[in-house]
Amino acid sequence: MPTRIVVLGAGFGGLELTTILSDALALDLVLIDKSDAFVFGFSKLDLMFGRSGLAQVRHPYSDVVKPGVRFVQSTVRSIDPTARRVKTDGGTFDADILVVALGADYDIEATPGLAQAGNEFYSVAGAEKLREVLPRFERGAAIVGVTSTPFKCPPAPSEVAFLLHDYLTALGRRSATEISVVIPFGRPVPPSPDTSKAILAGFKERGIHWIPEREVRALDAGRKVAVLDDGTEMPYDLFLGVPVHRVPAVVEESGLAVDGWVPVNPRTLETQYPGVYAVGDVALVGTPKAGVFSERQARVVAAEILAGFRGGPTPALYDGTGACYIEFGSGVVGRVVVDFFSGPEPTGTFEEPSAALAADKMDFGSSRVARWFSRSVS
Ligand SMILES: Cc1cc2nc3c(=O)[nH]c(=O)nc-3n(C[C@H](O)[C@H](O)[C@H](O)COP(=O)(O)OP(=O)(O)OC[C@H]3O[C@@H](n4cnc5c(N)ncnc54)[C@H](O)[C@@H]3O)c2cc1C
Repeated sequence: MPTRIVVLGAGFGGLELTTILSDALALDLVLIDKSDAFVFGFSKLDLMFGRSGLAQVRHPYSDVVKPGVRFVQSTVRSIDPTARRVKTDGGTFDADILVVALGADYDIEATPGLAQAGNEFYSVAGAEKLREVLPRFERGAAIVGVTSTPFKCPPAPSEVAFLLHDYLTALGRRSATEISVVIPFGRPVPPSPDTSKAILAGFKERGIHWIPEREVRALDAGRKVAVLDDGTEMPYDLFLGVPVHRVPAVVEESGLAVDGWVPVNPRTLETQYPGVYAVGDVALVGTPKAGVFSERQARVVAAEILAGFRGGPTPALYDGTGACYIEFGSGVVGRVVVDFFSGPEPTGTFEEPSAALAADKMDFGSSRVARWFSRSVS
């Protein structure tokens, strides 16, 4: 009987893993996701500012046509990591190798007032709603605020501030508005002083206020103030929030998570359960929660699975590196290449924002779509 591989979650990690295995092996692989389409995290920025429509950024899973891969659209309801048995709305699946790539969920209610008196731009629904909200913001104070750590794509709040500046400038509203960024870190991209310096210089040039080492604890809907973790109150007219992140409830209930996230061997992505791996945002790896890290982790797991089938040399260990694109506004994009494992401290190398890197970012997205969905994008 062929080895049964079950992959939970068809995001960055699940899609990369499935693609590599499918290219290399005759398989019995089931890929399970509750959604009917994949949306890149960075597409939420395009959605909220009206740069793309929903149809342009949704990549339907019905296009995942890979030999030996069965895509099942269903919600995972329970995971038994000891038996490697998964129950979904669409049936029960037993695995020889189980890969958990279910990402991070948002807990909007964990921040009082956020749902009633604010907005979040981390979900597709939140970004879609902002498309309606932003045109009505004509004057006053906007806050881009982070509510807790860890959160996906640490540069994203800074990117939103730059893009909001451009958006308001184009509408002739910038002089009537203020933009502040509230973020838990001392600098925008902690591993890279050069990247952080460039972002802070960009903020200064544009008059964007920077409030470091703070989190937004609550929004007071009646008074329209954001309450920070040190009790400071900031009045606002528009709140764009990064919500509290959590493992999906089904992962919490499975016993796989310890202190919030799934512990793994950071070099092999193995959990403490034999034959069970966790990759990406759901896992505690020691790298940021971002697609480029999920993807690279998936490649390591794919290599380990292949080595198990074929024998041969031990595959390379996960190296904790990744290259993230950062929107600087005005049509240019920078890049930071970060390395979390080589030295005693994480490091990052900055590449100056340019139109060429903006084109690279487009290629990054379209190459993934082409590979994962067996077609190219127009
Ligand atoms: C605004 C924003 C900008 C970003 N920009 C970037 C960027 O520029 N570069 C970058 O690398 N990353 C970026 N990210 C982060 C990136 O999107 C995530 O880190 C990445 O998608 C994580 O990949 P993953 O495979 O771990 O999880 P995901 O891609 O989130 O996939 C998890 C999948 O699991 C499914 N799932 C969850 N629970 C269940 C369940 N119970 N049953 C069935 N299916 C379930 C979900 O539907 C989802 O498809 C950004 C994120 C945001 C929000």
